[in-house]
Amino acid sequence: MNNSDWITRGEAVFAGTYSRFPAAIVRGEGCRLWDADGKEYLDFLSGIAVCSLGHCHPAVTEAVCTQAKKLLHVSNLFYTEPQTELAELLTQYSFAERVFMCNSGAEANEAAIKLARIYSSSAGRYEVISLSGSFHGRTLATVAATGQPKFHKGFEPLPSGFVHAGFGEPEAIEKLINDKTCAVLCEPLQGESGVRPLSGEYLQAIRSLCDRHGLLLIFDEVQTGIGRTGSLFAYEQCGVVPDIMTLAKALANGLPIGAMLTRTKIAAAFTPGTHASTFGGNPVAAAAGVAVLKTMLAEGFFADVQERSTYFIQRLEEIAQKFPLFCSGVRGRGMLLGVVLTDHGIAQGTAIVQRMFERGILMNFAGMQALRFIPPLIVSKEEINRVIEELGQVLAELG
Ligand SMILES: *Cc1c(COP(=O)(O)O)cnc(C)c1O
Repeated sequence: MNNSDWITRGEAVFAGTYSRFPAAIVRGEGCRLWDADGKEYLDFLSGIAVCSLGHCHPAVTEAVCTQAKKLLHVSNLFYTEPQTELAELLTQYSFAERVFMCNSGAEANEAAIKLARIYSSSAGRYEVISLSGSFHGRTLATVAATGQPKFHKGFEPLPSGFVHAGFGEPEAIEKLINDKTCAVLCEPLQGESGVRPLSGEYLQAIRSLCDRHGLLLIFDEVQTGIGRTGSLFAYEQCGVVPDIMTLAKALANGLPIGAMLTRTKIAAAFTPGTHASTFGGNPVAAAAGVAVLKTMLAEGFFADVQERSTYFIQRLEEIAQKFPLFCSGVRGRGMLLGVVLTDHGIAQGTAIVQRMFERGILMNFAGMQALRFIPPLIVSKEEINRVIEELGQVLAELG
């Protein structure tokens, strides 16, 4: 079976939700992937910021195999060792004291929204303010929270109780606050809409608005969390601590898991029966999560990521300066980096990604704004150099 066989078979049976690269991936190791035709790729997508320790990281593979031999699933009617250990690590290394586990980012955000509502229900508050350009998931509530009309189209009526404020304007948030508002939901750095960081001052302004009006501040760290921005959580770099934080993507390096973290006082609004997940915090996924956290928490891990991030940013800036027709700048943090495109560059965004793919480099075009680079955090300088070289050649070809 080669790529084209898998594509033919897949296209005959899948719902039409994805436009996929024309490759069937069969194997991965570190930052590399191989397809069914035997072609090798350098992966600067990481399964959309998921495989942050690289493909088939030995500690994760070992944890998964060991746990799979012991116990796959028992439901949350029982306690399990991996889930407990994962929650202990998450609370030990964050502001949070309590964890609810689920299976995806959207579900983690659903849990956060439900918690914010039930916590505020006695005061009659339920409305959530999120930001334009945000991305929070594909369930109906998280799509309603997502501040991009293109994700709403065709799915109306959306659940009510969600409003969106202009990006970068604390005053726009303040104007939307009323006696029904219960929370502000935002990503410390918007990944999907083109790698847009929220400045420290902006986040601090949001924090103080929440404090002044008695609102919960929810950080969606589904993409930024678990090391992506060069610290375990992005909030650590912003000087702002949220009340609720959601995680998913990289938490188990590829197994489906999500988590909603908060403080004891807020978590107390959830009582037995108010919220649940059959699979949430599944022993195998949780064991992988424990292995991920232990690996990232090892001495020097993040200093090393930041050092290579600084190098990558510098190399991307060289490209941006060399090709001003296409590029207007570089932004992002850690290993969540974007080359912002000019109008000319935007018109070529899809073609750039396509040509990089042909050259065996996986990356994407985020939010019709920026070329996004989200390699495994373990990416080497040599691998970064290769991507820079190929990108330079592609831009030279297209220019
Ligand atoms: C990917 C993502 C989600 C949705 O996660 P799923 O696991 O696809 O449901 C939510 N928020 C942010 C910021 C994301 O990047």
